Amino acid sequence: MTLPPHLTVKEGHLHIGSHDTVALAKKYGTPLYVTDEQRIRANFMAYREALTGYYDRVQMLYAAKANGNLAVLRVFADMGAGADVFSAGELYLALVAGMRPEHLLFNGSSKTAEDLKLAVQKNVRVSLDSIDEMKQLNEIARAMGTTVECSFRVNPAMEVPTHPKIATGLATSKFGIPAGQIKEAYRAAVEASNIVPVGLHCHIGSQILDVAPFAKEAEVLVKVAKEVTDLGVTLRFLDMGGGLGIPYNHTTEAAPTPQEYADAVMPVFLDGIEKAGIKPAFWVEPGRNLMGDSTVLLTCVNSVKTTHKTFVNVDAGFNLLARPVMYDSYHEVIVANKAELAPAGRCTVTGPICETGDILAHDRDLPEVAPGDVIALLDTGAYGFSMSSQYNSRPRCAEIMVNGGMEAPMRRAETIIDLKMTMESLPWQK
Ligand SMILES: *Cc1c(COP(=O)(O)O)cnc(C)c1O
Repeated sequence: MTLPPHLTVKEGHLHIGSHDTVALAKKYGTPLYVTDEQRIRANFMAYREALTGYYDRVQMLYAAKANGNLAVLRVFADMGAGADVFSAGELYLALVAGMRPEHLLFNGSSKTAEDLKLAVQKNVRVSLDSIDEMKQLNEIARAMGTTVECSFRVNPAMEVPTHPKIATGLATSKFGIPAGQIKEAYRAAVEASNIVPVGLHCHIGSQILDVAPFAKEAEVLVKVAKEVTDLGVTLRFLDMGGGLGIPYNHTTEAAPTPQEYADAVMPVFLDGIEKAGIKPAFWVEPGRNLMGDSTVLLTCVNSVKTTHKTFVNVDAGFNLLARPVMYDSYHEVIVANKAELAPAGRCTVTGPICETGDILAHDRDLPEVAPGDVIALLDTGAYGFSMSSQYNSRPRCAEIMVNGGMEAPMRRAETIIDLKMTMESLPWQK
């Protein structure tokens, strides 16, 4: 198994940055998410530099749903990123983190009137998913006596090689407006009194390990951009969405680098905008690619049981890491305190949740495992904590950030008392 540069094995222990994960687990308790700020920064710089090598008008919008911790958002804000926000909560947190409203895009296929109102109040552009939604936004802006800038999300009707639950650009998906109806949408927006269409948005899916679909997406985007420009709309940004994957299986999987992404996409984009006679900014919304490998989830072994196979029962389950159960996804497993020992047998790592499906890793060759050992699940920085729940009335765990020699909690663990904080006593249940 190859490890990224911020993960190393020293004296038998897995380290993240300069920090011993076993010592962190002992100090803060498990389960525990540990994120390396330096890795986030390196991922971000690699992505941005690959794009700016082709074009100077690039704006990175971090996909906030991948990991919405304020400390993480602040790292991106500090590097000049905005965010793709998909809810009022994500919008609020992005602003609290110091991101500029003009660098945010309020995406989503089902927004409430309150959501739209918030966007107008905060001067955040809205990516619209239907003409119906555009009309509602127009009414809201009119009632507030102002205008609002928007884009439409185009559905490129593309098959992409990824898990069906995260392919978002299929003709049959719930997202976006079909390319055949997009001119009608912009025409309606131009006619609307309080809407100014300024952008075009697309997002084809997630965990895509091939650059060809992105090149195809860019082709659709510039083609539609030309049609929209011909209608008299001045497009100030074209937004490619996110989706570039990462290698979760460190032995068998490879992922394109951001440079390979840029090499595939940017020539198509540059050629297309030249033909359309426009010079819009290039927006991109990576989430997983920036955050995924920055984080490990540390979980402690409670017990080991051998039946028809060996189960290693740990203290984190799909309450804290839903991806294996939700998407059949693979995360590398390292016994953090025995990281140099050779495999001694095949184990299935199971969580504490009352469901047969609560399995974090199937049939892995691990060293002899015993209660008290610390298991690290790699690449859990994206769609890890952000998809966690309190299922089985389990408080969520803490998250800590390391940065060079420093370390600090970025979220305290919930307690059992927290579980009842939002619950009310009914007046008839004395
Ligand atoms: C989820 C999402 C992203 C980020 O996807 P990644 O695969 O994490 O890069 C970007 N844009 C939109 C609209 C999304 O829904």
